[in-house]
Parts: sequence; structure tokens; C-alpha cells
Amino acid sequence: MSQSPDISIPTRVPSAASVDDAVTPFEVASLDLRGRLVRLGPMVDEILSKHAYPAPVAKLLGEAIVLAVMLGSSLKMDGRFILQAQTDGPVGLLVVDYTTPGQVRACARFGASGVEALVASGEATSANLLGKGHLAMTIDQGENMQRYQGLVALDGASLEDAAHEYFLRSEQIPTRVRLAVAEEFKPGSGADSHRWRAGGVMLQFLPKSQDRARIDLHPGDAPEGVEVAPVIEDDAWVQGRALLETVEDIELIDPDLSSERLAFRLFHEPGVRVFKVQEVRAQCSCSRDAVFSMLKSFSQDDRNHMVEDGRISVTCEFCNSNYVFQPEDVGANGN
Ligand SMILES: [Zn+2]
Repeated sequence: MSQSPDISIPTRVPSAASVDDAVTPFEVASLDLRGRLVRLGPMVDEILSKHAYPAPVAKLLGEAIVLAVMLGSSLKMDGRFILQAQTDGPVGLLVVDYTTPGQVRACARFGASGVEALVASGEATSANLLGKGHLAMTIDQGENMQRYQGLVALDGASLEDAAHEYFLRSEQIPTRVRLAVAEEFKPGSGADSHRWRAGGVMLQFLPKSQDRARIDLHPGDAPEGVEVAPVIEDDAWVQGRALLETVEDIELIDPDLSSERLAFRLFHEPGVRVFKVQEVRAQCSCSRDAVFSMLKSFSQDDRNHMVEDGRISVTCEFCNSNYVFQPEDVGANGN
């Protein structure tokens, strides 16, 4: 990993060194914009390759990972950020678990036939794979802190749209998010011939002046029949959003385009400042001890039912680690 940018230097050429598995926070002070660029290489490849889900499911989970990394990496205190989508679609469950400082695990549950049907009809978009349900974002900062949970409906929308809705309703911060995931293919066959890459950018309008803040808020749901004046959006936010819309998916995942260069490419006119890079990695928090404690917490009857072929085998859904116990070690009776 390269050194974090030295922000005491007022201006410098953006670094050409592309850093994977990293979040680069940035600020466009003249437009009151703040954002984060996420670039994931080996980390997202490790998580998605281990699961070996069908490609559209892996891609969707990759998007959820980028979103969770964007939001989790902005936690000010130690804790966990959990992003969970529960829906009636072919991919009924997505879970991404981000533990500070930058430890990520993720998994999905899906119906194979439903996914296959969407693939066959050429309609396996993120929105269709998800269907209807809700997206929950939970911040857990330890035993003595209150758990915070924000919920937003998933109603045939993409994760990007759901994120916009969440920020507007729950936090009242105008926000735009772009998520990109792709498989990179190399000549040859086997496990080395392809790898997953992912990236994204989040842009938020956080005006310091009250005037700017007041005119940009959404009017909300007006009662029926009431005329709603069109929202007058601040020019700075209109400009920032327009710049973000020019980003191509390939720019978000291109291993040869550094996050700093992308930030500069987007915001060189208004001027952009980058902050210390935060690293992320794939790491599960499961352990033999934790599984042992979980088994001990089950009822005798439940433990007895888990015995198969004279042993109890537990597989972590996040990382596929397998833990095998002798029935007598966890107080189970295999007969
Ligand atoms: Zn695990």
C-alpha cells in the first residue's frame, strides 16, 4: 500500500499509483461537496470467489459490498456497520458486515431457479434480482451504545436508488452514489483466468451556509391536491451531480486509473482535496470458540438433532469455514 496523501501540501499532482482495497475520502470545498471513492480488488475477489455464486448474484453482492464499505468507512467511532437487504426476489437476502477499521465479510441467499429464469430472459438486473422488500443499515457501536437502524423500502429499485432514498429520507443529505462491479478475464482457463473488481463513488452535498441548506431539501410527501412548488436545487449540488453522472463504470474499476486521478479528472475545475486513505480487507469474525459457545447455548434437543454421521459440522455462511465437533464435546447425544 502506498503512503497516505500528505494534506499539508496545498497542491500537488494526483498520484498515479492505483491502490486497491482502499477508500479515498475527498472534498470539493468550493461546492460544499464531500465524497468517498472506493476501489476494491483482491478483497472483493476473495469474498466473491469463495462463495462461487452465479455471476449475477456475485455482482449484486459486490455492489452491496461497495455500498457497505462507503458507509462503514465513514463511522467516526469503533463499531460495526451492517447492510442487509431482505426481499421477495430471487436474491432474498444480502448481508454485508463491516467492522472497523476495514474488516469486511458478506454473503447472499438466493433461489437458483429464480436467478436462472432472469438470466435466461436477459433481465438479471440488480433491481430484478432483488425484487421488493427492504434495505436495513445498522450501526452497532458496542454493548453500552444504542444500536441505530435505518430502513428504506426496496421496491423494484437498484441498490443505488435505495441508497439515495435512504439519505434523503433518513439523513436529509442530498447524496449520489455510483456502484460498479465487473469480472476481469485474462487469457487461459482455471481460477487465475478471472477475478472480480469493484468500485464506487459517493458524493454528498453538505452546505455550511444555511441558505444553501434550506433550498435543497426535498418537500417530502405533500397531501393529495396540494400544489408542491418545484424544488430549487442549489447550483453547487446540480453541478456536483452532473459531474458524477459523467463517471463511467469502467473508471470506477479500472486497475490502471488511481482514485486520486479519478477525483482529479472529475473535480479539477472546482478543485478537489483528498484525505488519508483507509484500507479494507476480507476477514470473517467467526472462530471455533464462537461456534462452540453458540452450540452450547442451544437446547439439548437442538444439539442432538445436529449430529450427523457421529459428528456436528457447522459451516460459516460468510466465509465457508467448517468447524467439526464431537457430539460429547458440546454435550450432544448422537443416538
Ligand atoms: Zn466465517
